[in-house]
This record gives sequence, C-alpha cells and structure tokens, in this order.
Amino acid sequence: MKYALVNGDRQEAKAGLRGVCQACDLPMTPKCGQQRIHHWAHRTVNCDAWWERETLWHRDWKNRFPQEWQENRITGPEGDFHIADVRTHYGTVLEFQHSHLSAVDRRLREAFYGNMAWIVDGMRNGKDPATFASFLSANIPDYGKVRGWRFQLRRFPLVDNWVSATSPVYLDFGDTIFPNTGLPPHELLWRIKKARTGRVIVTPFLRQNVIDHYKLSTPLEGFDPHPPPSGPQDYRSMDWP
Ligand SMILES: [Zn+2]
Repeated sequence: MKYALVNGDRQEAKAGLRGVCQACDLPMTPKCGQQRIHHWAHRTVNCDAWWERETLWHRDWKNRFPQEWQENRITGPEGDFHIADVRTHYGTVLEFQHSHLSAVDRRLREAFYGNMAWIVDGMRNGKDPATFASFLSANIPDYGKVRGWRFQLRRFPLVDNWVSATSPVYLDFGDTIFPNTGLPPHELLWRIKKARTGRVIVTPFLRQNVIDHYKLSTPLEGFDPHPPPSGPQDYRSMDWP
C-alpha cells in the first residue's frame, strides 16, 4: 500500500519507519527496494483479500487525486471492509484494475462499493492496444450525442470481460496513438458500454476530462459528432451523466 499510519499520521514507505495498517491496525513493513515501487506490506497476509499488487500504473492513477481520497477503508454492513483505491469527496469509489478480474469478483466489488467506476489498464496484455486499434479501424464511428465506435462483441477479452459491468468502465491505453480516428493523439480513456443491440459502444474521452469529472464533478464531455448524426443510433438515449 502507499500509506501506513506512523504515529497516527499517514505516511509513504521509507526505510526505517515502523507503521501500522490504516485498515486493520496490524504492523506494516516499508518495502523500499529497486524492483518495485516503494510500498508498505503487511508482515503477514494483507487484510484486504481484494488488494492488488501495486504497479507504477496504480500509483500514477492514485496520485491524480487528493491524498486524503487515496486508500480509504470502506466498511460494509456486516463489518467487513476493503480499501478503495480512491474514494472521492462525492462518495464515488474509483478502482484501478491492472490484473484480470473474474465476472464473479467484479460483481462482488460492484455490490460492495455501490457507487463506483473502474479504470482498467489496457496495457497489461501487450497485444491489446493493437487489437483495439484494429477494431477501431474496422468499424465506422457511430454518432450520437458524442462520438463513439460500435463493436461486435467477439474475441476481444479485454472488452468482452468488462462490458457487463454495472458501473462505468474506462479503458486506459496510456499514450497509445490510434491513427485515423480524428481524435487527439494521446491521453484518452475509452468508456465501454453494451448497446441495446448487444453490441458494444466504446466512447473516447480526454483522460483529464474523466479525472475532472470525478475530482471536480464537472460533466463528462465526449467528442463532437462529425458529420452530424444520421442513420440509426441506438445509443443516443444512453444515460451519459
Ligand atoms: Zn491491514
């Protein structure tokens, strides 16, 4: 974890410090080696079975939000608890998911956190950015209130695995450039959502726009449709907030 309590204050890991877990009060050890980002580890097993080994990607995402929103203990009705990556001032939990998550586990977390959104690391599997790009170029952009692309749901586990989520899901392909899309060359997040036809709509947003949406409660603003809408658009009534 990024934080432990040292004499009652949240602190980042540093060699020589002694801390306790802010969720379970058990002792934690600072890990400040060369291989992984500096972090705190429980001396025994992590009290949060949902905790994912942190990567630089996780840490970068947490750091885009105020410190006091990061790594918040959320307690369920039966006293069980988990540590949310970020819990915003507005009560939304943001989970930054790097590794594969089964549908069962995803549903459990969505039920526990309620008001939440997923940011999914699209760079974990080296082939996924190229596969995603090939889907974009093979499909004509679809125009509703904002620009999006409509995919057939097939043979793309990264999208297939997340399309049934009940909470918003944003794929993060880092600075991958998707040519010939008419979009800015980097810093996008792609929201995925099932369309009524059973297909998938992927909608790009500027990464900063999504961050601001959760950080400042500003509206999510997709890219203007161009050319103007024509033909069937089965997602125009989608509930974009
Ligand atoms: Zn703990």
